[in-house]
Amino acid sequence: LASLLRGRELAALIEAGVLERVSRMDPPPALGVVLAGDDPASASYVRSKEKACARTGIRSVVVRLGSSASGREVVEAVAALDSEGVVDGILCQLPLPGRADPGLVASAIPPRKDVDGLNPVNVGRLWRGEDCIAPCTPAGIMRLLAHHGIEVRGRRAVVVGRSHIVGRPMAAMLIAADATVTVAHSRTPDLEAVCREADILVSAAGIPGLIRATHVREGAVVVDVGTSRTEKGLTGDVAFEEVEGIASGITPVPGGVGPLTIAMLLENTLKCRAARDSHSLHRPAPII
Ligand code: NAD
Repeated sequence: LASLLRGRELAALIEAGVLERVSRMDPPPALGVVLAGDDPASASYVRSKEKACARTGIRSVVVRLGSSASGREVVEAVAALDSEGVVDGILCQLPLPGRADPGLVASAIPPRKDVDGLNPVNVGRLWRGEDCIAPCTPAGIMRLLAHHGIEVRGRRAVVVGRSHIVGRPMAAMLIAADATVTVAHSRTPDLEAVCREADILVSAAGIPGLIRATHVREGAVVVDVGTSRTEKGLTGDVAFEEVEGIASGITPVPGGVGPLTIAMLLENTLKCRAARDSHSLHRPAPII
């Protein structure tokens, strides 16, 4: 059976490190969150983020906007959080209501406060392999792989999903770590054959049961990012019972990738704080 790649223990270790660093900061770092709309899942994610901040001594400031909020109002809320000068990091919980454009909102977050790493400056730096603030979920997955001694260099990685928050940055980070990367998505023919190429398979589609035994090569490492709310509770993309007999390592849902996402958000908040103290992210990146 595959070994279970749990995220909780590692997340607790990372949180302990954050707590220790925060205890030496005065004033403590602060995270600003804009929550627009009434999506219950978003409200629950924001509560988890507030709790994690509270556990580690980070201040959190949550600005709540109604479900009729326009993209412009969200951008204005971001600008207000920025100009008040209190918070080190800012994020907007996605999805945004109505037809608000998440790309415009990401561009409105100053790059050095962009804890989710979605501003085009951070996205570009990530793809260039430069110092940046990287999206929390794929950053947590890279930590998880390293923590379990899973070699990435020279291996074949397949990422299922091409979102800005998971799939694309995951591919960028795996490339930076010297994997050979394929990105599959909703228009990919023969997903099974593509996935079977993978030594490391990361699924972030949000479709329960998408990844079956026939998608997985013997001995592959399977990272399940999917979190779909079903009547059976939180469910990943991977048909766990089928795949655990084939894979060498597999993340559980829940308790795999999720806790690490939050831990990386806390680390990114400290990174923003450090950037504020040193102005390091203000400097143009070196051109190699
Ligand atoms: P998204 O809906 O933006 O993207 C889903 C991606 O899956 C798309 O790029 C799409 O092309 C691809 N896809 C859809 N159907 C497919 C199919 N049949 N075959 C192959 N690819 C297909 O979602 P997202 O924001 O990237 O999130 C993906 C999943 O990960 C969701 O379940 C989400 O809840 C979860 N998630 C979990 C965490 C965590 O911390 N655990 C964080 C972020 C997202």
